Amino acid sequence: MTTTTHFDVLIVGAGISGIGAAYHLKTYRPGTTFAILEGRESIGGTWSLFQYPGIRSDSDMPSFGYGFKPWTHRKAIADGHVIMDYLRQTVTENRLEEHIRFGYRVLGAQFSSPEGLWTVTARHPGSDETVQFSARFLFLGTGYYDYEAGFTPEFQGVEDFAGQVVHPQHWPQDLDYTGKRVVVIGSGATAVTLIPSMAGRAAHVTMLQRSPSYVFSIPAEDAIANVLNKVVGPRRAHRITRRKNVMLNRGIYQACQRAPKLMRKLLIANVRRQLPKNFDVDTHFTPRYNPWDQRLCMVPDGDLFKVISAGQASVITDRIERFTKTGILLESGQELAADIIVTATGLNMLPFGKIQLDVDGQPVNLPDTTVYKSMMLSGVPNLVFAVGYTNISWTLKVDLVCEHFCRLLDHMDAHGYHTVEPVLRDPDMQRVPLLDMSSGYVQRAIAKFPRGGTSGPWTVQMAYEKDVERLRRGPVTDPALEFSVHQAARLAS
Ligand SMILES: Cc1cc2nc3c(=O)[nH]c(=O)nc-3n(C[C@H](O)[C@H](O)[C@H](O)COP(=O)(O)OP(=O)(O)OC[C@H]3O[C@@H](n4cnc5c(N)ncnc54)[C@H](O)[C@@H]3O)c2cc1C
Repeated sequence: MTTTTHFDVLIVGAGISGIGAAYHLKTYRPGTTFAILEGRESIGGTWSLFQYPGIRSDSDMPSFGYGFKPWTHRKAIADGHVIMDYLRQTVTENRLEEHIRFGYRVLGAQFSSPEGLWTVTARHPGSDETVQFSARFLFLGTGYYDYEAGFTPEFQGVEDFAGQVVHPQHWPQDLDYTGKRVVVIGSGATAVTLIPSMAGRAAHVTMLQRSPSYVFSIPAEDAIANVLNKVVGPRRAHRITRRKNVMLNRGIYQACQRAPKLMRKLLIANVRRQLPKNFDVDTHFTPRYNPWDQRLCMVPDGDLFKVISAGQASVITDRIERFTKTGILLESGQELAADIIVTATGLNMLPFGKIQLDVDGQPVNLPDTTVYKSMMLSGVPNLVFAVGYTNISWTLKVDLVCEHFCRLLDHMDAHGYHTVEPVLRDPDMQRVPLLDMSSGYVQRAIAKFPRGGTSGPWTVQMAYEKDVERLRRGPVTDPALEFSVHQAARLAS
């Protein structure tokens, strides 16, 4: 016989989002029972999975950290292990470990409207057997990409290469690149992080890119935040620094939207200043797209430019013809010798950790759904998900979603409701991709995701200040939300 364990809320994922949701439930909904089902054996999600040299945030940590837990570390752009320490502290300080069940990969979740309940099927740790849970609400903190495999394009002749090919998502812990010639394929956040970290120890690191990205130097330490921490104490300092950083980052983003030509000039001039006079900035650091059509790549204290200037790293902008026994043959005819090739070619985006959702026996086809306030799905009752911002810190959004979720539960309790479902009543409303970015990893996968709408609560706002109004200050009720009492309770009354 299958036994089913019941919780009021089941959170899926113990990354920064799932831990944030657990904190909010424990703090603001003390009577609510909840558990986190985590498919891996560790908390941290992204920050425990990625183990490549130099792994770090590219957001400032006062805004990437939680609103409720001050960031006190000296460095605002933090290394992966420091982020992991911060997450472990959050778990310990709030006694969240007792709620986390490791090794439970959620495979499917079926909602029954008559019962007002989710039945969640998860793979039992260490076996192929499955186990069931039931819950009133599901909170999906599953991140946005496939944990099993990163993205690698098909390269001709890979099998001929005598050296080692490594993807950053599966970094071998014993990889010794001392004195080796390393080629890093890619021009995104991962490539610009890896290159300065490997340079110096490797014989030489070559960044091989098909086309350039915007690379922007930011201070690794925030001098103002560090002074404030001493003068006004961590809590006030955290509040002030978050506000300052949100304003600054939003200001840069909005300037890029309003005056792309000017911002393009400024960004490229900033790169030019940090590289030797004869460096070909036009070829290697002048993108074809406008700033923020794709994520800006941040480099702390210009570390990438320093290793290029020192001759420890170089950039080649070209296309790959094929891998050879000794390296890579480029379309230009040039041959690049390599001992190690790192394919920093990105992620495979994936919605909701591959969980198959069903409502009353009907499978949910995610692209047919429309997001409500970017936290719920049309036609899917009692489900909240955490997908953060792509143009500013992810966690700023997740904090707001968690607050709104707790208020929604308060409202439902106060009125005796059991289910809440966003209902899209205008079938003609134009729908748009959930993420409006031209990056390859987004374009490859966005059709599998739910879509955004173009009016009312269906719009996707990549704007923190608007979400503060919508999610923190705005009401939890909305004409698009249908609340109900489930059948069993109606019959009993
Ligand atoms: C290398 C890298 C650097 C980044 N840097 C930044 C940055 O500086 N700033 C920023 O804003 N964003 C950054 N991001 C985006 C980043 O992923 C998010 O900001 C944030 O860490 C996501 O947290 P999360 O908890 O939502 O998801 P994740 O960190 O992806 O965690 C999801 C968790 O859910 C679990 N899970 C997934 N599916 C299932 C399932 N079916 N069953 C059970 N468990 C499941 C996973 O095992 C994982 O533990 C970065 C991403 C990467 C890859």
